[in-house]
Amino acid sequence: MSEARLIDGKAFAADLRGRVGKGVAELVAGKGVKPGLATVLVGGDPASQVYVRSKGKVAAELGMSSFDHRLPEDATEAELLQLIATLNADTGVHGILVQLPLPKHIHTERVLQAIHPDKDVDGFHPINVGRLGSIAAGAPLDFPVPCTPLGCSMLLADALGSLSGRTAVVVGRSTLVGRPVAQLLLRADCTVTIAHSRTRDLPALCRTADILVVAIGRPEFLRGDWIKPGAAVIDVGINRVPAADGKTKLVGDVAFEEARQVAGHLTPVPGGVGPMTVACLMYNTLQEARRKAGLPFAAI
Ligand code: NDP
Repeated sequence: MSEARLIDGKAFAADLRGRVGKGVAELVAGKGVKPGLATVLVGGDPASQVYVRSKGKVAAELGMSSFDHRLPEDATEAELLQLIATLNADTGVHGILVQLPLPKHIHTERVLQAIHPDKDVDGFHPINVGRLGSIAAGAPLDFPVPCTPLGCSMLLADALGSLSGRTAVVVGRSTLVGRPVAQLLLRADCTVTIAHSRTRDLPALCRTADILVVAIGRPEFLRGDWIKPGAAVIDVGINRVPAADGKTKLVGDVAFEEARQVAGHLTPVPGGVGPMTVACLMYNTLQEARRKAGLPFAAI
């Protein structure tokens, strides 16, 4: 059997960013509305600083306004909620992203619920979670959908065309990735099973899948012989492990070299799902700015 076709998330994300940039320019020219993304970082976690910086940089590159808000590690929850209230009321801000994780003394759920659902470009507000959970098959995604799951579904649709009738297994049931991915696949008319740490005989279940999405956070956990020949495998995992040269490297949740001998399509790590997350954040921000300008949802 031939090797899997690698799904180039880096190239797809670059193309999506280009389409978003075009949409931004059209919105500015047509309606005089410049999409604005506010990022909020509490504390100085180095990884979070890198993420926030790159989100602000991409927003600016695509012609959006980018508002960078930093609060000290010991900021109170009330201070953070006050900042969110200000951003909710700011008509120049169409998307609010609070970088997670938050310091332990702050109640994450309360903070996410404080973001106005129409500015919730991460798609984590309970109203948006509920919208995704109750969406009808094929209905438009005209509300913010979590970025990484949205990226997975875009890559699958691009690689496979129609997903209708396919059997999908999603390994991982987090609210951030696994559950929303499953909802998106259900909307696309897949027959979906969600697996987790208590699932019995996971290898056998995985072997039933035409589409396998793996989001568990365990390096190279899912082996090649768990994969049905020709299946599409989306590896969401990002794990840093020691490399042979004494440094470290990133690997996914799927044993890549084994999987590429069996799968039909496969996302690499890095360069698969990862780059889609920020591109989808920009996509969500553009959609919310369009909505504010009175324009209908547009699949770009
Ligand atoms: P969580 O830790 O929140 O969830 C992990 C899920 O995997 C849980 O549902 C857990 O099951 C399940 N799981 C853990 N061990 C096993 C096992 N042995 N067998 C079956 N299921 C298992 O992780 P996230 O969903 O947040 O992230 C998953 C991975 O995706 C991570 O590597 C993360 O870095 C990556 N990620 C990548 C992103 C990107 O590309 N931009 C964005 C977000 C995440 P249970 O519920 O039973 O505990």
